[in-house]
Amino acid sequence: MTMTAPGSIQADSSGGLPTHPGPVPPCPARGLVCRNCGATFGLIAEHACAECFGPLEVDYDYDLLKAVTREQIEAGPQNIWRYVALLPVGQDPADRVSLDPGLTPLVRADRLAEELGITGGLWVKDDSANPTHSFKDRVVSLAATAAKRLGYRKIAAASTGNLANSVAAHAARVGIPSFVFIPSDLEPGKVVQSAVYGQTLVAVDGSYDDVNRLTSELAETDEFEDTAFVNQNVRPYYAEGSKTMGYEIAEQLGWRIPAQVVIPMASGSLLTKVDKAFRELTAAGIVEATEWTIFGAQSAGCDPIATAFEQGWDVVRPVKPSGIAKSLNIGNPADGPYALDAIRRTGGSVGRVGDDEIVQGIRDLARTTGVFAETAGGVTVAVLRQLVADGRLDPAKETVVLNTGEGLKTLDPLEPVVGPTHRVEPSLRSVRAAGLIG
Ligand SMILES: *Cc1c(COP(=O)(O)O)cnc(C)c1O
Ligand SMILES: [Zn+2]
Repeated sequence: MTMTAPGSIQADSSGGLPTHPGPVPPCPARGLVCRNCGATFGLIAEHACAECFGPLEVDYDYDLLKAVTREQIEAGPQNIWRYVALLPVGQDPADRVSLDPGLTPLVRADRLAEELGITGGLWVKDDSANPTHSFKDRVVSLAATAAKRLGYRKIAAASTGNLANSVAAHAARVGIPSFVFIPSDLEPGKVVQSAVYGQTLVAVDGSYDDVNRLTSELAETDEFEDTAFVNQNVRPYYAEGSKTMGYEIAEQLGWRIPAQVVIPMASGSLLTKVDKAFRELTAAGIVEATEWTIFGAQSAGCDPIATAFEQGWDVVRPVKPSGIAKSLNIGNPADGPYALDAIRRTGGSVGRVGDDEIVQGIRDLARTTGVFAETAGGVTVAVLRQLVADGRLDPAKETVVLNTGEGLKTLDPLEPVVGPTHRVEPSLRSVRAAGLIG
């Protein structure tokens, strides 16, 4: 394994409280394994297999995972690092480069359940409560911590918005340079939140897939040799951050895996890692063995995984994305085949919804739960409605839907359809004329 280079990324711990007072647990990661051919590697800074170019994933020592207990996790900090005994990096708190996201609310959604006819119980996992208001803080904390460990000095990303916000904020927190590349047509809320941290922000006149191709080329240049692209060269570590969403759901349900989960998909990584988290908790004996079903959600403007699911394909054909759910607009999803596998293996399905349904989904969730989701959350709620309506999701079983981002970041599609219900002069007469009092 590459060791930390002198002068590489250091967390500024001044002013921070000690986050993990207990002894440092052993790192449970054995190395990286190719998901395609099974070749194994050390904990290196690569995301593609040297043998077959397949994607690499962190591989664990299941004996170490089996030693992890609920009590040990519960005694940890109130953030993702309580699961560090199940993660590949960050065992020593001093090594972490993190905004300490996680333990976001699991909100009981009884009113939405009633409206949709769900009787088995409905919950919203609300990741808008993370420090930069999306689930991406989980993956960036893992990626930035791995970057430090592997000796990188800068972090970077190609992003559909939320990743940009989180990478720039993490870099600002520890005082390292970051380089974030976004499609130039992102929502103003996401552009401002990426720019405010005072880091390098490059708007690219192209789609996310164009941006991703550009950063792959940049990663090969001398200037970016010391830069970790969080979702490219350290992607195996980045991806593990998404597992914490699955761990939290189980812990917040009282160490139980829910029967059904509905998950929005961009690259498909989050979905595969929630499934991995459930498998690990089961294998480690932390939860009782049970069956679960995973459903994927996409927008009609970017539905390559939905199409592959319907057609029975194992591979995903790239599309040119459009539509308002920009955080999900990845036309060539890297984890598409693995997401399809998790969905099919658990007996799930994929729904797709158009822009009007997405806006309705945002409004339905807000109106019935008080949670204001970004467009990706609108996709998930609208897909939930669709899955119940056509009988693919069992309304008698406990269901969790993921809200992965904050509504204030994507106000644009809401502005034309919601606003003040009345407009009055500052007088009782005017309020009376408006019909609010008799
Ligand atoms: C990135 C993102 C996702 C999906 O991420 P993948 O792991 O690439 O599928 C979902 N919701 C929001 C809000 C995101 O920003
Ligand atoms: Zn391989």
